[in-house]
Amino acid sequence: MKPVYTFADLQSWETVTADEKPPLRLAVLGDPVAHSFSPQMHNAALSATGLDVRYCRLHIRPEELSATLHLLPQKGFIGVNCTIPHKAGALAAVDEADDHAQLAGGVNTIRIGEDGRLEGFSTDGLGLERAVAEDLGVDLHDMRVLVLGAGGGAGHAVAMHCASAGVRFLTLVNRTVEKLHSLHEAISAIYPRELQLLQPWNDQALAKSLAGTDLVVNCSSLGMKPDDPAPIPASLIAPRHLLFDTIYTSDRTPLMRAADAAGARSANGLSMLLYQGAVSFEIWFQRHAPLEVMRKALFENARAKAQ
Ligand code: NAP
Repeated sequence: MKPVYTFADLQSWETVTADEKPPLRLAVLGDPVAHSFSPQMHNAALSATGLDVRYCRLHIRPEELSATLHLLPQKGFIGVNCTIPHKAGALAAVDEADDHAQLAGGVNTIRIGEDGRLEGFSTDGLGLERAVAEDLGVDLHDMRVLVLGAGGGAGHAVAMHCASAGVRFLTLVNRTVEKLHSLHEAISAIYPRELQLLQPWNDQALAKSLAGTDLVVNCSSLGMKPDDPAPIPASLIAPRHLLFDTIYTSDRTPLMRAADAAGARSANGLSMLLYQGAVSFEIWFQRHAPLEVMRKALFENARAKAQ
């Protein structure tokens, strides 16, 4: 299996993958996509459950997304995941989308249904809820939540999930404030409690908001580069705060290091990746995902990358 396939490869899928046994029938679509841990996690699950197909990476540019999605049924695909920057484009391209995807404004999981229909789902919000319970030992519903980077794809999904889960208080922050306006409207329609938009994103506003916050979820990509600053400085964090960073490319992200300095508990996004992947597996195969097998593959791979 090649580390990454392209749109040109997909067009000649039968020839390009002729020697692949089991055949490649699932993929993650992204731009870039080479960093994705999803193939290791899903291929471990497919092997363990005796399913005779495999999962690969497809590097698809935005202008190739619609044609790619419409080629998948012809090429025998069971489904795909969509990552940066394709979630909103995938929602526009699918034939139907579940409530989570409509609320999230994006699709991260597609199942190829009968007659080649494209069925879209969003599993990021559920993934976050289960990860927060596992890593930080709290129920999302009981939390006063501050979502950093709420205007991005993951932030939108997380903010909508928090609203539909009925968290105690919800605050949204985004570098580009305008991106929060439509989200504010959508959340107001389903969230009966007070919703706070923090603008501008600065230390003074954050300090005020953090006084009434239990859980901070970083959905911004600030922290993906090792020398990025923390999205919240350690000086604003109290030991009682819980910090969940959706970034999973590092063991200790800048936000987690700030939490450490402040004596607060934190987690990175690896468990969220695990749980959103498990829900995808269940959507494709209508059976329980082998969670522990997926966890082992994912965490071993992340550990190896960190070394
Ligand atoms: P995206 O749609 O491109 O959104 C990026 C977000 O980051 C936007 O809110 C953007 O703000 C913000 N941002 C970027 N650079 C910033 C900076 N220098 N300062 C402040 N904010 C900044 O990407 P995405 O798909 O939402 O992904 C975002 C992160 O979530 C990534 O790190 C990704 O790995 C993670 N994620 C994790 C999981 C998981 O399962 N653990 C799942 C999905 C995503 P503007 O709107 O102002 O540009």
